[in-house]
Amino acid sequence: MARYTGPVCKLCRREKTKLFLKGTRCETPKCAIEKGRPVPGQHTRGRIRESEYLLQLREKQKAKRFYGVLEKQFRSYYEEAARSKGVTGEELMRMCELRLDNVVYRSGLAMNRPMARQMVTHGHFEVNGRKVNIPSYRVKPGDTITVKGKSKTLGRIVENTSYAEGRMVPEWLSSSLKDFSVSVLALPERSQIDAPVQEQLIVEYYSK
Ligand code: SF4
Repeated sequence: MARYTGPVCKLCRREKTKLFLKGTRCETPKCAIEKGRPVPGQHTRGRIRESEYLLQLREKQKAKRFYGVLEKQFRSYYEEAARSKGVTGEELMRMCELRLDNVVYRSGLAMNRPMARQMVTHGHFEVNGRKVNIPSYRVKPGDTITVKGKSKTLGRIVENTSYAEGRMVPEWLSSSLKDFSVSVLALPERSQIDAPVQEQLIVEYYSK
């Protein structure tokens, strides 16, 4: 399963925004964005004119990096969103938000999305009582995600849940960290999705 394995802070610097890829460090002054670190390669490439195309491209890259999705899958999300009856951009963001790895992160069972992805891949979660180890698995309203029996005692998961206590869980999820369980109550509205992305630019990028 392909994934990005390079330095993650570089991705935030490239997109000039926090993508929250490192857990606790992202909330501290050690964060590269907080420190005002420049865009990688900025000094060697000179000034770049921000064309309409470049803005659209950067917005697409930002969304992919925020959710840890590679190009092929992200494009297939777009194509599915474009075929749906809803607003394409909103449907696209909803599909990303409903990924199992994102739900694990947003419910507080992981400190960041890359960690959630790894935990799902390692088979620590069940959806409605059945083991699911596919990070892109799309959950739906009514689903219940739980940590598998033995995995509840793993130090890493216990640490994650104690770190997440008091963290805001979106209204479309109901999280019970003491039971290592999260329920999907509804489909997320765009206003409940915290991705720092202008999805209309992504739609314009792909619809050319
Ligand atoms: Fe991004 Fe977190 Fe690194 Fe800051 S600490 S640059 S938010 S990954």
